Amino acid sequence: MLSVIVLNAAVEASGLYKRFGNVEAVRGVDLRIPAGGVYGLIGPNGAGKTTTIRMILGVLKPDRGSVRIFGETPHSARRQGWITYLPEQGGVYKNLTGLDFLRYIARLYYDNEEDAARAVERGVEISGLSSEDLGRIMRKYSKGMQRRILLAAVLMVNPRLAILDEPTSGLDVVHSVAVRRNIKEYASRGGTVLLSSHNMLEVEYLCDRVWFMKDGRIIDGGSPAELKDRYSAENLEEAFLNALQAGG
Ligand code: ATP
Repeated sequence: MLSVIVLNAAVEASGLYKRFGNVEAVRGVDLRIPAGGVYGLIGPNGAGKTTTIRMILGVLKPDRGSVRIFGETPHSARRQGWITYLPEQGGVYKNLTGLDFLRYIARLYYDNEEDAARAVERGVEISGLSSEDLGRIMRKYSKGMQRRILLAAVLMVNPRLAILDEPTSGLDVVHSVAVRRNIKEYASRGGTVLLSSHNMLEVEYLCDRVWFMKDGRIIDGGSPAELKDRYSAENLEEAFLNALQAGG
């Protein structure tokens, strides 16, 4: 007997539309993100990336359109701990130490103490922070250290989908490389990442597929190699600029 297994996409967004007053922030976005791998949403400032991401997360209600995360509503996916989110400007619980913050997050995700402890171990490793720094109050962390502890919290709980807004913003070269390695490693274990970044080298290095956004719409999408080929460009940055110029 022939059996066909239909795998749910990590994200299936159709016809997303969102207006704020006179601003049409997102104007009919369709996005199908397969399960497993790293995917990028790219666009100039104000293109509608964060608004799209917030609708995918279910923290912003679309005026029109729908979102499914692994076949379920964003609310249901969040409730089951399937999605984690690194916002562009994430606050941290500044009066906790880094280690206590990781422990606090782990307890939200795991009932079992051993699983929580293992998640914290993963978080410590992903953060790359010394035990001395992990024992310090996060209010005293530099911007880069705050970014690293937040990313650690987002990845250590092994979400099915991690949404990362500018994951390496504010990080030095050494730590950016470490963060990219962590993202790749998480995806190689079957995780799905949707990231938004203005760093095209990073996007080209990390992403299996990329969508270009402009004025609230997706104007093109493909693997970095396909997009470079389509726009006769040497790198993704040039392809992106050519796509914007082409008008989309
Ligand atoms: P950036 O790269 O600068 O982060 P973006 O692509 O993420 O930009 P969005 O933050 O989605 O862009 O914004 C899209 C448009 O919607 C912009 O014109 C922005 O001013 C507007 N906008 C977003 N959120 C709100 C809001 N809560 N109220 C009013 N306007 C908003």
